[in-house]
Amino acid sequence: MGTSLMLISPPPPTKTPQFTPSIFPLPKTHQTISLPSSRKINTKIRSTRKFGNFLDLKPEYQPEDFDFDLPWHHSSDRSQFDVIIIGAGPAGIRLAEQVSFYGIKVCCVDPNPLSVWPNNYGVWLDEFEGLGLEDCLDKTWPMASIYIDDNNTKYLDRCYGRVSRSKLKEKLVKGCVSNGVRFYKGKVWEIKHHEFESIVVCDNGKELKASLVVDASGFSSRFIDRDDHKLRKRNYGCQIAHGVLVEVDYHPFDLDKMVLMDWRDSHLGNEPYLREGNSKVPTFMYAMPFSSNLIFLEETSLVSRPVLSYMDVKRRMVARLRHLGINVKRVLEDEKCLIPMGGPLPRIPQNVMAFGGNSGVVHPSTGYMIARTMALAPIVAFAINECLGSNRMIRGKHLYANVWNSMWPIERRFVRECYCFGMETLLKLDLNGTRSFFDAFFDLKPYYWQGFMSSKLTLKDFAWLSLSLFGNASNSSKFDIVTKCPVPLAKMTGNIILESIG
Ligand SMILES: Cc1cc2nc3c(=O)[nH]c(=O)nc-3n(C[C@H](O)[C@H](O)[C@H](O)COP(=O)(O)OP(=O)(O)OC[C@H]3O[C@@H](n4cnc5c(N)ncnc54)[C@H](O)[C@@H]3O)c2cc1C
Repeated sequence: MGTSLMLISPPPPTKTPQFTPSIFPLPKTHQTISLPSSRKINTKIRSTRKFGNFLDLKPEYQPEDFDFDLPWHHSSDRSQFDVIIIGAGPAGIRLAEQVSFYGIKVCCVDPNPLSVWPNNYGVWLDEFEGLGLEDCLDKTWPMASIYIDDNNTKYLDRCYGRVSRSKLKEKLVKGCVSNGVRFYKGKVWEIKHHEFESIVVCDNGKELKASLVVDASGFSSRFIDRDDHKLRKRNYGCQIAHGVLVEVDYHPFDLDKMVLMDWRDSHLGNEPYLREGNSKVPTFMYAMPFSSNLIFLEETSLVSRPVLSYMDVKRRMVARLRHLGINVKRVLEDEKCLIPMGGPLPRIPQNVMAFGGNSGVVHPSTGYMIARTMALAPIVAFAINECLGSNRMIRGKHLYANVWNSMWPIERRFVRECYCFGMETLLKLDLNGTRSFFDAFFDLKPYYWQGFMSSKLTLKDFAWLSLSLFGNASNSSKFDIVTKCPVPLAKMTGNIILESIG
């Protein structure tokens, strides 16, 4: 059964929203499975397999679209918009909600605006509380744990939450609908520009006109130009991970703590090939325990270049689960996570605005983006309103410059270079170096490690963080920093200089 909502007016809403259960309820038996709304079961599954190897199990739940009644823009409509947003992912929908709040006419274009977002998102509770989005979490953990190695575990006193994709989408879409956003079902093929307006051409030939086009189509966006300066090659890092929501007989993790990082490698004792690879390009386990037999597990390579093989990630995960005594009975969902990190920013300004995954906002050292994107949307929306709101009529070049600068003021561009420096440093560390790094990092004052992870540090904070990190580091880490960091440091300095001279 899909989530049932009447979102269009008139007539006014008549049905009460039915929220999805907070997490997947576990069945007592396979026959009595209680399915989450907006999902349906894949009946072709069920198998027994070797203890610990779950890769042959197919995920049981297939996404089913939301049952919202959206206000559509029809192909025959000739109306012109102020803003067209390409993409109805978290970034696109949040920006549409915020811009339309000012009475600006917005159209959101996506091949399927009603689809369920596919990824599992985690955020720190304080990040969502600050935005009034804490009701969009379906589970929170009062603490997070970090396993540095077998003998060293750290507990972080910061509450972590799993985002409820359905609640977040529902809340943002409701805001869009009450602010008058129109939705168009289509894939954008091309964007044509005139001095004061742009035309979005969809794959069915439909043309939509607006003063501003925002591309929120995710990492594989085709419409944004990157800064291709010779000295700033496309030096992306990449996060790769395999995640599964699983029913298990048992798992060893405390239910009041999520596992942010488990860097232990004792599971690779009998796997020399995997152990050698892991000591060079390490992976860790990220885990969200929902109950004693329902858990989300993700084997993650924080950042690698070239990207670590997906098969290696999965093999390491199988070995880890076997070692931890985790027997997977059913896979409810799985995800392949591939996130480009760092690299050059989009060219600023340009006549299409980027927002979300394609805008450089992904944290270069962690891959996180959701909370930051939710927080940036009101800032960018304010700038759009300053130009396109009633009577202002600032369009064309000035509009593009104002909107881009609201998202990437020069200080934030400098700070991003520091975060990219963080990524370049991580890329140079092997397993031991990575462990020492995080051992020292999570011993910093919470202001610094929390600010770093939430992309909130200023340049000055960043300088303090670097000095404190060096001060806290073990002798071997200090040696690592001194020997491995000069090149990234020089790159960062060069990029900051390039940024300042434009
Ligand atoms: C598996 C995975 C797990 C992640 N986990 C986290 C996490 O825990 N925390 C966190 O902060 N970040 C996480 N991220 C990173 C990031 O937050 C997500 O990638 C996020 O979904 C990006 O949002 P977005 O709206 O920019 O793009 P997307 O979610 O990719 O949405 C883009 C939308 O645009 C549409 N589209 C694409 N092309 C066109 C076109 N030509 N015309 C019209 N529409 C188009 C797509 O259909 C899609 O609906 C994760 C990423 C992945 C891949």
